[in-house]
Amino acid sequence: MPLAFGFSRSRLLNRCINHPPNPVLCLYLAFSSAASSSPSEPSTAAAGPATIREGRAEIFRDESNSVFYNKAQVNNRDISIAVLRSFISKRREEFIVRSTRGEPEDTKLSELAKYEEPKVLEALAASGLRAIRYALEVDGIGEVTAVDNNEVAVEACKKNIQHNGSLASSKVVPCLADARVYMLTHPKEFDVVDLDPYGSPAAFLDSAVQCVTDGGLLMCSATDMAVLAGGNAEVCFSKYGSYPLRGKHCHEMALRILLACIESHAIRHKRHIVPIISIHMDFYIRVFVRIFTSASTVKSSPLKLAHVYQCVGCSSFHLQNIGRINLEDKRHIALPNFAPTVPEECSECAHKFVMGGPIWSDPIHDKEWASSILSSIHVMMDSYPAYAKISAILTSVSEELPEAPLFVSLHNLCAILKCTSPTMVMLHSAIRNAGYQTSGSHVDPLALKTNAPMSVIWDIMRCWVHLHPVKHRPGNHPGNVILSQEPKLQGFV
Ligand SMILES: [Zn+2]
Repeated sequence: MPLAFGFSRSRLLNRCINHPPNPVLCLYLAFSSAASSSPSEPSTAAAGPATIREGRAEIFRDESNSVFYNKAQVNNRDISIAVLRSFISKRREEFIVRSTRGEPEDTKLSELAKYEEPKVLEALAASGLRAIRYALEVDGIGEVTAVDNNEVAVEACKKNIQHNGSLASSKVVPCLADARVYMLTHPKEFDVVDLDPYGSPAAFLDSAVQCVTDGGLLMCSATDMAVLAGGNAEVCFSKYGSYPLRGKHCHEMALRILLACIESHAIRHKRHIVPIISIHMDFYIRVFVRIFTSASTVKSSPLKLAHVYQCVGCSSFHLQNIGRINLEDKRHIALPNFAPTVPEECSECAHKFVMGGPIWSDPIHDKEWASSILSSIHVMMDSYPAYAKISAILTSVSEELPEAPLFVSLHNLCAILKCTSPTMVMLHSAIRNAGYQTSGSHVDPLALKTNAPMSVIWDIMRCWVHLHPVKHRPGNHPGNVILSQEPKLQGFV
């Protein structure tokens, strides 16, 4: 059975080599994996069938079914296939537009003949299941290179490729190499690079952003959620260059920290990212970003990054962009922003702020892409084993308010005031009545995204408590301080 939290021996093997090695552990894992993959040993008879099928791919399982297959990752693979299909169709459209712009007819035809199917790099391939699924299920895909730095994994990958017939054998190329070295020695060669490491992808990002072609796609997962969600803030800073903040929005903040980190690597190489979709799912996050080369766009990177001030009393948060544009200067150069955007003490509850980030503050999804991916998975629902889950997530993603980083939680607002809770519908409607936009978030069913300032949200909650009074509590609790102020906005509840 799969180990809890997506651990697998293959992942551990990768970890042994990509991170400071533990020779004893590596040796044990190598021997146990080698033994399990021996063809002379009918090891799987007692444990069930000898193969595992997912989508159109089938791979051999080992005796404990834990080395190379992680069932929990089917959502991850399905959503990756959906994004990949959409990317390939977009890539072809862009190529046609580019090559036929103002050209005579015969030139158009010769240019179209030059179109090459997008090449994919599966940088940490393990059993090769993902690479084989890409090759078998994504029309118009080019060669899929499945790199792994572990010999046992690469041998298993070869067997799995052969087992999946001629199409898989003609498209998937297994390769024994360190992913970082391989990506650095193949700059701008792959249209798609897929990074799905055990734990943090931080060590691979600098080489990954250089390996992707111009306009290509980087798909990147991170499973070190304890680090990214604020459990070990100092470790997060050392790996990703940002401070996370604890709170209900921590998983969205994790996505934004990862995006900011990828951008920070990209801009060192005169490149920048454009997020397509960014998802928190199960126990990990996964982002899909396109990478472009543009020295001028790189200069506006500080405008897409922000620090987050979060009140330690009432959890109100305020974003402050790192850069600003001087409108009087026609060159539109990003300058250091004026600071701070908040007073020393929170104007709602009089507590201090902590400062997190920097995070990616631009939109984390391209809504148009999200909607088009959603439509395409509805059409091909039978080809996605995790259809129900991924369609639910993509629906939520396509409805998210793009210009509202992070969110407030209704439970959190009520817990601070110690009041009964209005319904989500009531809170949404009150904020909209005040003239602002709202939406949910795929990260949390109780999340409320809005472009309303925190002062408006607290005023609405004050009005709610006025209608549904709370017991008076002695002391200077944040809730008491908030309720001691009269609402400036009234009549929305
Ligand atoms: Zn406060």
